[in-house]
Amino acid sequence: NSTLDVHAIRQEFPVLHQHINGKPLVYFDNAATSQKPRVVIEALKQYYEQYNANIHRGAHHLAVRATEAYEQSREAARRFLNASSTDEILFVRGVTEAVNLVADCLSRSLLQEGDEVLISAMEHHSNIVPWQMACERTGATLKVIPVKENGELDTAQADALLSARTKVLSVVHISNALGSINPVKELIRKAKARGALTFIDGAQGAVHLPIDVQDLDCDFYAFSGHKVYAPTGIGVLYGRRSVLEKLPPYHGGGEMIKEVTFEKTTYNELPFKYEAGTPNIADAIALRYAIEFVEQIGKEAMLHHEQALLHYATDLVSRIDGLQVIGQAKEKAGILSFVIEGVHHHDIGVLLDNMGVAIRTGHHCTQPLMRCLGLEGTSRASFAVYNTPEEVERFAEALKKAANMLR
Ligand code: PMP
Repeated sequence: NSTLDVHAIRQEFPVLHQHINGKPLVYFDNAATSQKPRVVIEALKQYYEQYNANIHRGAHHLAVRATEAYEQSREAARRFLNASSTDEILFVRGVTEAVNLVADCLSRSLLQEGDEVLISAMEHHSNIVPWQMACERTGATLKVIPVKENGELDTAQADALLSARTKVLSVVHISNALGSINPVKELIRKAKARGALTFIDGAQGAVHLPIDVQDLDCDFYAFSGHKVYAPTGIGVLYGRRSVLEKLPPYHGGGEMIKEVTFEKTTYNELPFKYEAGTPNIADAIALRYAIEFVEQIGKEAMLHHEQALLHYATDLVSRIDGLQVIGQAKEKAGILSFVIEGVHHHDIGVLLDNMGVAIRTGHHCTQPLMRCLGLEGTSRASFAVYNTPEEVERFAEALKKAANMLR
């Protein structure tokens, strides 16, 4: 039983109110990116219409206003992750940039030949490739925690793979391909006991779960704004202060310096040491409005609502002949992956689109996971706070029609 006023929430999302191919839009591709509420769109408009200016160095009124709004957003992100200080909140483009930042900085400092980086078999490409690049550069080895057939991480194998050689554990909080919620707190505790640094990919986790980085006790936690109702091009990397202080900077340039001479440069304090150049000011400012939007509704209420939609959808589509749900973890967020025997996922996507229903099909940037599961890809419906049971029914009806047409 949802306590949300979904009807009122939908009114805040202009994009939802349109017809696609003559049918009312059902937007079920939220794990790829979510739609934006009016407050976020308005924040962007207000910034450009009223106080666009470069931040942190201007003496004039607009620069002061823009700087204040930018730093207020950092405070909102700190609260969102319950970090102890805004010094530990770095603005980045998204999770992809966050992983690249950390992997690159570690490859130029801590990582050495013979070290190991431990990830999982259900990682998004963005939490695989930067680590492979870091391993290539340093001679470290990439190790992989396997996934069980039901889509849960094989935590017993994780225990066996963690050793004194493990320098980094980097795992996804919620799988974007399967919806599995991973027991990251337990994994972080075990990795820390071996002296490893820990990175959590919160691209989906931060959207659906309350996050407390102090309670998790991770060294890094990253999320992308665009999946949590904020604009594209802005994300957050939490980094533990003691670790960030030890690591070298990432990009060099303006803002990240204290003093520059041709002989030597000294670096700025946290968080500015990691924010070279003019940042994405407008989208960073708008992120705060998205965070406040989520806080007002409450993540528990959102998760509850999305899981109710997941269960309803799972129940309805399971009645379709030959349909198999991929990913049946006990702990699961509002992401439903499935395959239908004898039907290609791409064709399902096209037919559903003809009926106004937007889903994602393919490998979901998790090719190694698909290979482990013996699949080329899946169809994926993913739910957000503004989705309704009626939309789930329209989706299930459309899917049934599509499956019948394709067989
Ligand atoms: N990790 C996961 C689990 C994701 O779902 C995504 C986005 N699909 C990413 C990482 C990458 O995020 P971004 O493209 O916003 O950098």
